[in-house]
Amino acid sequence: MNKTDIKSLSAEQIKQELQRFSVPGFHAKQIFKWLYRGVDSFEDMTALPLKLRSQLSDAFYIEKPVEIDSITSKQDGTTKYLFTLSDGEYCESVLLRYNHGNSACLSTQVGCKMGCKFCASTKAGFTRNMTVSEMLNQIDFIQRDKRQTEPDFRINHVVLMGIGEPLDNYDNVIKFLRLINAPDGFGISMRNISLSTCGVADKIKELENENLQLTLSVSLHAPNNELRSSLMPINKLFPIEELLAACRHYTDKTGRRISFEYALISGVNDTPECAKQLARLLRGMLCHVNLIPVNEIKENTFSRSTKEAQKVFTNILSDSRINVTTRRRLGDDIDAACGQLRREKLEKRRF
Ligand code: SAH
Repeated sequence: MNKTDIKSLSAEQIKQELQRFSVPGFHAKQIFKWLYRGVDSFEDMTALPLKLRSQLSDAFYIEKPVEIDSITSKQDGTTKYLFTLSDGEYCESVLLRYNHGNSACLSTQVGCKMGCKFCASTKAGFTRNMTVSEMLNQIDFIQRDKRQTEPDFRINHVVLMGIGEPLDNYDNVIKFLRLINAPDGFGISMRNISLSTCGVADKIKELENENLQLTLSVSLHAPNNELRSSLMPINKLFPIEELLAACRHYTDKTGRRISFEYALISGVNDTPECAKQLARLLRGMLCHVNLIPVNEIKENTFSRSTKEAQKVFTNILSDSRINVTTRRRLGDDIDAACGQLRREKLEKRRF
């Protein structure tokens, strides 16, 4: 018999599943809670009747997180984790530590098919979507790891900015977000969750109907179609006008400000002319621009904008009354940008 992945179920779904064992419904809530509190065998759910534990083991399995590598920055405590999944694939996650709390940068797919030219995650191509429980396990593992030395540790912010395109794994990602938000799950507030997309406009339209108070980040990186299509193939499918129309619709419907990500690449998209075009494009929108000096990766020759170019770019935007910040770099000494640890492992496996 094929066993069901219990971590992919909500408390309500577990309750429905339990009906076939004719046991009281409150056990569903207990089981659900344990799954988020580091219990990864039915045997260890000791408050349940023995018979039920064995019935559960026959019908369900608990996906376990397995870490194979981690590295912590001496500068700022950023930790980068590499996990193995049950089919031997790798997943990468990063823990970022801020004064206001702990943020986990999570992956949503094994590899990525989006092909952005500046991104390390997409270079080895796409393998498969991650399951709901694999996504959950990234948080579970990081919390368990840190609690060994800091008993009160908890992740309070989640950003879907690791490997993969979250809106290309739409159903699993939405389910995952609702589960981590559930009070008996990890209880992470929707307002502390950011979902980043390369611009899958039709899915942005779906997302606005989910009634989630999360922050939508859109990776823009260029202010015109010619440049954007040369950097991001998705732009050929959903050009800027279509993407921004979906974004405007999203902010109208949800009242939530969109965060536009813009990686500054020297001589490519960081000119004053690009800044002016960007300001014109975003004028009047409920948004914020997050500038990221590009992370240099060995697979291409893109280099980071000079401090001077960053300053000029920022000033042009703020003079046009666009809300703009530059992302603080964390984990510089451990190469914390996503995709790089997994790439290294894959390369080693090949040789
Ligand atoms: N697929 C999603 C989320 C993953 S990438 C997306 O495209 O938004 C997370 C963020 O990192 C995106 O804004 C992406 O464009 C950016 N990014 C990728 N490679 C980068 C690099 N080398 N330097 C700076 N930012 C990069």
